Amino acid sequence: MSDLICKVAIVGGTHGNELTGIYLIKKFARLPELVKRASFECEILLANPRAIAANRRYIDRDLNRCFASDDLANHHLTGYENNLAKQIVARLGTKDRPQTDLIIDLHSTTSNMGLTLLLPDYQPFTLRLAAHLAQIYPDVRICLAANNEVGNSRLRSLAPLNLGIEVGAIAQGVLDARLFHQTQMLVTATLDYIDAIDRGERPVVPASVTVYQSIGSIDYPRDPAGELLATIHPDRQFQDYQPLHSGDPLFLTFDGEAIPYTGTATVWPIFINEAAYYEQEIAMTLTDRQEIGIESR
Ligand SMILES: [Zn+2]
Repeated sequence: MSDLICKVAIVGGTHGNELTGIYLIKKFARLPELVKRASFECEILLANPRAIAANRRYIDRDLNRCFASDDLANHHLTGYENNLAKQIVARLGTKDRPQTDLIIDLHSTTSNMGLTLLLPDYQPFTLRLAAHLAQIYPDVRICLAANNEVGNSRLRSLAPLNLGIEVGAIAQGVLDARLFHQTQMLVTATLDYIDAIDRGERPVVPASVTVYQSIGSIDYPRDPAGELLATIHPDRQFQDYQPLHSGDPLFLTFDGEAIPYTGTATVWPIFINEAAYYEQEIAMTLTDRQEIGIESR
């Protein structure tokens, strides 16, 4: 594939209560020169208008799980987000016939993820981009998604190259000035990088970079009816990206009893205690920290 990028889409409000991306898209709509670059077309999109108006993650179904090819072709799926997904596909292109080269999807999280770049499973172009951003901004962390069905159902999977920007910790329905401006900074640096590549320049990238490879998730302890039996242990709360060793306290029951991590391998949890993931039965996502080399071009 050629590295030439002709069209980029920046998306906010895929989740209607994540205000950082929503207000950044509104700012870009007001000041389009901020996202205009000479070498490619840039489209901005507020993905879920009804959820944004309602200040909810979604109306009927998580929009960011509606883009699996089978679901898009299924005319029996008629919820608001399923219909919306078909409209978004008409605008941004399908997986089979992409009309957008690269999608940047803006999210926020109640977990203490700082500035996180979410990449599809190993992809040289976006990995170089992320390594470039991490070199400029050392606080940036890079996560590689597991290559699974969830990944293929995300909005950003409509483009062959895609990047999620996940910032936190921030409550749903809340803005934070520092995270807002840092998100804009990452978008600006991303657009500048793509523009430089398109113009034949070679932006600096480090020889290797630390990545957090998603390896699965664990749920809260629950009773057979699905009721929670414990919370995240206070020693683990807000400790995203910190190593979790076998025997470390992980949950705390409502009676005050610590439940340890029983896995044998050290892992690096992220999305710890994310509000939106209680219903998805995810207490945290586990990652493996790796140092990987960056291919030179
Ligand atoms: Zn989100």
